[in-house]
Amino acid sequence: MNSQDCIFCKIINKEISAKIIKENNTVIVIEDIFPKAPVHYLVIPKKHIVNLSTITSLDKELVWHMIEIIKELANDLPDPKAFNTLSNNGKEAGQSVFHMHWHFISGRNIVEGEF
Ligand code: AMP
Ligand code: ZN
Repeated sequence: MNSQDCIFCKIINKEISAKIIKENNTVIVIEDIFPKAPVHYLVIPKKHIVNLSTITSLDKELVWHMIEIIKELANDLPDPKAFNTLSNNGKEAGQSVFHMHWHFISGRNIVEGEF
């Protein structure tokens, strides 16, 4: 799939709508359309990268920007500010949108329960 057919690129380009939680020049955070926890966001780089397996050291700064945003999201949570991040890489691992993203999940224990 190229970036023209990519649903997250379409959201980034505002061609389709999504609930935007945060956005800057590098990263957008949206609410997952099928939330699996009380808080379920997707942290998405604006650059179309398929997944963590295809990222290179040229994107070091982009990864740091994603982590900075994750820290901001964590800071906005109620105490105890506990959360999970999850990235599915490859169809067999559950990746369904082939534009890299981290799920940001809070309010549900996904380690003890099934996600
Ligand atoms: P993954 O299966 O790990 O690739 O995650 C893709 C996530 O994107 C899933 O949890 C979907 O529910 C979510 N999703 C798909 N389409 C949209 C959309 N249009 N807006 C928001 N979330 C979406
Ligand atoms: Zn894309």
